[in-house]
Amino acid sequence: MIGFKKLPGLAGELFVCRGCLHPAGAGGEAGLCARCWEGLVPLDPDRCPRCAVPHLENACPDPVAWEHGDALWDYHGGRPPLGALLLPGLKQGDLGWRAALLRRAGVAPLPDWLGDCEGCVPVPTHPWRRWRRGFDIARDVAELISRRTGLPVLLPLRKAWRAPSQAERSEGARRRLPKKAFRLLDSADVSGKRLLLVDDVWTTGTSLLRCAQALQAGGATVGAFTLFRAT
Ligand SMILES: [Zn+2]
Ligand SMILES: [Zn+2]
Repeated sequence: MIGFKKLPGLAGELFVCRGCLHPAGAGGEAGLCARCWEGLVPLDPDRCPRCAVPHLENACPDPVAWEHGDALWDYHGGRPPLGALLLPGLKQGDLGWRAALLRRAGVAPLPDWLGDCEGCVPVPTHPWRRWRRGFDIARDVAELISRRTGLPVLLPLRKAWRAPSQAERSEGARRRLPKKAFRLLDSADVSGKRLLLVDDVWTTGTSLLRCAQALQAGGATVGAFTLFRAT
């Protein structure tokens, strides 16, 4: 039982799930029981094709800069909500959760329109943050989609040195992310390309929006795709 916490129990050792804190039982992985992993819940089938949330009005509640936007799972799915449990762990560099999550993303159904894109662009992270964590989950997702669809991974964007980490900010502050938080490299030629922008989680969508705007300024059209959608 790799990754599980051991507690002395009446009948020997008891393995406790890191999510629900109940005895883990069979079928768990990376410290989470099988029931907690069922928290990877697909999104509402009636969601908007642009912002991936269900809404009745014509206008999306948050600004989007693309015709196609989607995600695999509901960030708040499961008890406890699995996305909200996993993402902070991934930011701390949890390799077990990363492997288990990517394995599931590797077999989850992908939207058809991904195949119309010509390249897969991860939302960039600060290099030192990637170094501290040992991996970059947006890049991992881009590489996974590349393996599944044949799209090349492209790295035309950089995060501005002073741009703050969205994960550490309040919702209001996230929406005010400066226009220049991401920039297109001078050497990048994205003109006329249909690109898929990829990230781990889509909350307000401001990082995706700023990246899309930088790519569009370079002449690209953009779609957005993430592991989790939070609403
Ligand atoms: Zn559990
Ligand atoms: Zn919408």
